Amino acid sequence: MSYDTNNVFAKILRGEIPCKKVYEDQHVLAFQDIRPQAPVHVLVIPKGAYVSLDDFHEKASDAEIAAFTRAVGKVARMSGVAESGYRVIANTGVNGHQEVPHLHFHVLGGRPLGRMLPRE
Ligand code: AMP
Repeated sequence: MSYDTNNVFAKILRGEIPCKKVYEDQHVLAFQDIRPQAPVHVLVIPKGAYVSLDDFHEKASDAEIAAFTRAVGKVARMSGVAESGYRVIANTGVNGHQEVPHLHFHVLGGRPLGRMLPRE
């Protein structure tokens, strides 16, 4: 999967389409998922153009990587799920069913989330 500069998250970062912002810093933006699958469903994205976690870890600076990881923890605490529990998901590539080719972590919580994967 290559980086498509017209992907929906790139458009959000450029301010071309709106988002419900949860958190922002120099390197990271977090916003509400448009089709939430749990009471808390926030997407955390780096501001740089990275497709996946492996792409990010290969190319991003240590400052970007630190900010991205810290933002996930901040979002969990700000969303009130740090105590009750939450799940972080990075769908990647075809088998991971990634729809948007810009790295994102889903932070999900606010209810019991069941098994990590459905049984085959
Ligand atoms: P993934 O399958 O991990 O690539 O998931 C992409 C996620 O982006 C889905 O959960 C979508 O609901 C979400 N999404 C798509 N467009 C938007 C948007 N404009 N604002 C917020 N979330 C979006």
